[in-house]
Amino acid sequence: MAQTPQNEAPDSLLITPVAPIANSTHGGRAKCLQRLVRLDLPVPRTVALSFQAVHGIAQGEMPDMAAIVEAFPADALLCVRPSSQDPDWGGPGAILNIGMNDARYVDLCDSLGRDGAAALYLRFVQSYAVHVARLDPDVFDDVEDGGPDALSEVLHAYEAETDEPFPQNPAEQLAAVLRSMARAWEGTSARLLRQAKGAPADAGLGLVVQEMVPGFGQGECGSGVLQLVNTKTGQPQITGRYLSQSQGRDALGAGAEALFLEQDPRGPSLEDSAPEAFADLKSHARLMRQRLREEMQVEFVIVSGAVHILDGVRVTRSAQAAVRIAVALAEDGIIPRAEAIMRVDAHILTELLHRQVAPDATRDVIGHGIAASPGAATGRLVFTAAEAQASAARGEPCILVRRETSPEDVRGMHAAVGVLTERGGITSHAAVIGRGLGLPCIVGASNLKFHSKRKQLVATDGRVLTRGDTITIDGSSGEVLAGQPEMLEAAEDGAFQTLLTWADEVRDIGIRANADTPEDAETARKFNAQGIGLCRTEHMFFDPGRLTVMREMIFAETSEGRAAVLARLLPMQQEDFFALFRIMEGLPVCIRLFDPPLHEFLPTSKSGQRELSEALGIPVSDVTRRVEEMEEYNPMLGLRGVRLGVTVPEIYDMQARAIFEATLDASKEGEPVVPEIMIPLVSAKREVELVKARIDAVALAVKAERGEDFAYRLGVMVETPRAALRAGEISPHTAFLSFGTNDLTQMTYGMSRDDAGRFMSAYVNQGVFPEDPFHVLDTDGVGELLKLGVQRGRAENPDITLSICGEHGGNPESIAFCREAGFDYVSCSPFRVPVARLAAAQLAISSQTGKSPRESLKS
Ligand code: PEP
Ligand code: MG
Repeated sequence: MAQTPQNEAPDSLLITPVAPIANSTHGGRAKCLQRLVRLDLPVPRTVALSFQAVHGIAQGEMPDMAAIVEAFPADALLCVRPSSQDPDWGGPGAILNIGMNDARYVDLCDSLGRDGAAALYLRFVQSYAVHVARLDPDVFDDVEDGGPDALSEVLHAYEAETDEPFPQNPAEQLAAVLRSMARAWEGTSARLLRQAKGAPADAGLGLVVQEMVPGFGQGECGSGVLQLVNTKTGQPQITGRYLSQSQGRDALGAGAEALFLEQDPRGPSLEDSAPEAFADLKSHARLMRQRLREEMQVEFVIVSGAVHILDGVRVTRSAQAAVRIAVALAEDGIIPRAEAIMRVDAHILTELLHRQVAPDATRDVIGHGIAASPGAATGRLVFTAAEAQASAARGEPCILVRRETSPEDVRGMHAAVGVLTERGGITSHAAVIGRGLGLPCIVGASNLKFHSKRKQLVATDGRVLTRGDTITIDGSSGEVLAGQPEMLEAAEDGAFQTLLTWADEVRDIGIRANADTPEDAETARKFNAQGIGLCRTEHMFFDPGRLTVMREMIFAETSEGRAAVLARLLPMQQEDFFALFRIMEGLPVCIRLFDPPLHEFLPTSKSGQRELSEALGIPVSDVTRRVEEMEEYNPMLGLRGVRLGVTVPEIYDMQARAIFEATLDASKEGEPVVPEIMIPLVSAKREVELVKARIDAVALAVKAERGEDFAYRLGVMVETPRAALRAGEISPHTAFLSFGTNDLTQMTYGMSRDDAGRFMSAYVNQGVFPEDPFHVLDTDGVGELLKLGVQRGRAENPDITLSICGEHGGNPESIAFCREAGFDYVSCSPFRVPVARLAAAQLAISSQTGKSPRESLKS
């Protein structure tokens, strides 16, 4: 092979079991072929060119071509394929049948027949013309496909366009192919494309030159691909494509035509026509699975009944198949469990929990927004909660479209199959509720025009969709689609459960769920959350029948009026907490005292105001006046959270009583309950002291009244920057600190979580933020506050439990930060719990191996 100066890798290497070939120097395909050679599989002779050599070729420095050509028999036809470090980064398409020329054509006429030889030559000339000589494919438009003179017409057209006859010298052809592939890789568009898939700017390309096996002879001849599993489900199933020469086409160039091995309606299957070859193929595929430790698709050629393996490629797979394949490899003892855990991208688990738009479905995109709650749903457009309920009553799935949602819309959200809002960000009302319900949701779709009054939605391309039209929202990608594309059903199967059980065995950070209702709690339990990390008690009043009571409480002007409403609220809350404690029996439940941002609870619609006027027995005009009085300029920074608890303490008293009564009741029926009570939106130590004193007093009163004892833990939610900075003086008063990173992000950036959707994509596109900080934790800024909070809090109270309960808790990148920062657990929406469990396990494993989950996925 090529002579090389000392200390430099050879330009080209014949692939042998001992040749110094590595993924990082010659690419994944070259390395895989070497593995196949080492397994003694019948692989045709192959030469690998290194990244360095291919880079040189692009710069005009050709390797020793004679040495490459000499590695093959004189009359061999060759093919060249790309070999990038990561197959996902792509590469130029393979070029086959290099070496075809007039002389070879004449030879092949004897073995293949004139038509077969002509078809082969013709295809090579065309592919060379387009990919190497860069001619416009149109130049062959006049050639009659399959006509008797097609070959000479193509050769003529080539010559007419290039002013040169078609090159006849195989070495010259090969050099030109290598040059064109090397340059294609270094072109700007190819570089941008692969960088978008995560490739570094200087990612190298290797090339493999392989002798083509002539797919003709006596007996069974043909080519195809075979794999041992189903690509969609990952279930064992021999599947593939096979083109037999006897089916009338030349069989050089594997994979040209799709025919199912076992279900070919047009002829006998390979199993019938060549059982031995079929058996060999299966055993080769099994050997590859065993030794390459991966499900591989085998690319093969059969000549006179004998199998040749051209290549092995990692089987492409759906999310469901990825999980099943990894688990099966571990169960068969081929890879350790830890490796199976590392092989599944945690983000894709979400796809298994929800219906998705099928990957190959046609998407008629009419707009997009922020992908706020994953999964896809198709339904008719409705523009109000009432319409959504009516639609559900008729049994017609609907998509609820709102400018933004408020508690008044929650009944509509329950009735709809998906929600689309014009405004909002990843932590806005619609997004949080959507995720909680497992309801596909897109928010901040500001490139669509919402005409709520006219009940119309105007697409980016001007199309007008009206109430009743069918749309699909893809809450995983943020795309809004017209019509109804094909869907893929949710698929949390046994393999999914097994993988998560293995993950739980290795992870070292706790995972709880944010759950507000018994249904959420059931979901949390089903996904094996280790407790509830955040129960937003005001969300318990989103239920239509209860919303009015909550409003009555907010509206009460006199203490008698308030006491009356609280007396009605007490049994409701007690019942709620009892249900949560029972469902979560044996696991901790953290209940956050009311934190109703007033704008989310004031009745804005006329009907809401009417309902409230009836409930309060006052004129609508009074309600309207009170709403105006109570309106705040910045409700997210207004009378919320503990500020309500300090100014109207009876409310928290009622909640504490309900929690304690439910604690005693639930403890009678099952394991003793130790409730966790959390104070929201704290910014000063004194707030904690005031609330704590009253809650302790309520606890004493309940204990005395009932003559029973119980324990409870009081904690503080750190979601204002000041609380993080002053964590040292707050922590001695509390058993735990839970960081609410939604508000903390909002306040650290001074950026409204409900309005950020309007400018977020512009900010991310222009690189102001690397990602939406409401989605992926800003480890630099917000993260610094978290770290300060952790250090200062722990320094003054070493036994304190630390957690995070903002939406970031379900994001793998943010979990990595929390683990590093020493948090005890993260809490996230129930449907994100599986992702969090897997991501946490991957982090624990990678802290031992030193390899990040991403690197492990690629290796
Ligand atoms: C938070 O602010 O992070 C949080 C969990 O609370 P909420 O989203 O209810 O404001
Ligand atoms: Mg908050």
